Amino acid sequence: MILNGRTVKEKYRSILIQQVTEAVVVGKKTPAVAIIQVGNNQASTTYIQHKKQFAETIGMSVVHNLMREDVTTEEVVALVRQYNVDESVHGILVQLPLPEHVDEHSVIDAIVAEKDVDGLTASNVKKLYSGQKGFLPATVRGIITMAQEYQLPFKGKHIVVIGRSLIVGKPLALALLNQNATVTIAHSHTENLPRLCQSADMLMVAIGKKHFITKDFVNEQQVIFDIGINREEEGLYGDVDFVAIEPLVKAISPVPGGVGQLTIVSLFQNVLDAYKATF
Ligand code: NDP
Repeated sequence: MILNGRTVKEKYRSILIQQVTEAVVVGKKTPAVAIIQVGNNQASTTYIQHKKQFAETIGMSVVHNLMREDVTTEEVVALVRQYNVDESVHGILVQLPLPEHVDEHSVIDAIVAEKDVDGLTASNVKKLYSGQKGFLPATVRGIITMAQEYQLPFKGKHIVVIGRSLIVGKPLALALLNQNATVTIAHSHTENLPRLCQSADMLMVAIGKKHFITKDFVNEQQVIFDIGINREEEGLYGDVDFVAIEPLVKAISPVPGGVGQLTIVSLFQNVLDAYKATF
């Protein structure tokens, strides 16, 4: 079975259109997210463009603030604080990565929890850690949505998450644990990784290495979520060698066209949740 992110994205786009229309009747404002970009990183600009286009199709708006590359941490924090109290903005997203001289933690933690639609502030991380309801990072929410759509429950399953970044691996592992999965987090120092992976019911791979997962890592009952996005001149590649692995497992998400498609949907689901919480 191929876990088709494009189909699920279109289904949820239609649902969002309906939900936004209903919410606006009550909230009487356009739900909006402010995106802060520092410097003109080409990949970031493209991602933001996609977000703007998606927002337009569902009746939401994006306020894009492009700051100079040489801006200070204090200036970015000041802009975040401005949006914190701006009632026309319901979510705030700082497009990562920031230039090295800008302190990411100070910027992220300046966002008020109610507008932290990326789920990265200490307050939301604490909620995830303690199993309380808060904003999940969009990638994580997208994976959960995909699994629900294909009726692939996490409860009781042994899930190996490869990668332990703050943006993907760690929040994903915690979210799965909160859904009663038995989670193993693997990383670059994990020994016997192929054997560990082979024993898993599900593999969630967020490494950033093209076709790292080969037939030695899988079993025929396994479900694989490939989160990796590896950009090369010829196109995008996942962390899993899809062509070789797809016939050997129960289900797998491709790259492109897999869980990455749902990240944008999940972001705007978070914005809608933030909007609805204001009334
Ligand atoms: P990071 O580089 O921050 O983290 C990579 C993780 O992979 C680290 O924990 C690292 O281990 C681990 N790793 C690296 N090499 C190996 C190895 N040989 N064996 C086992 N583990 C290894 O990346 P991100 O988490 O930010 O992103 C991971 C991938 O997901 C990227 O391809 C990125 O583009 C993609 N991505 C996709 C998104 C989506 O929406 N689909 C969103 C965000 C990211 P260690 O900690 O020991 O160094």
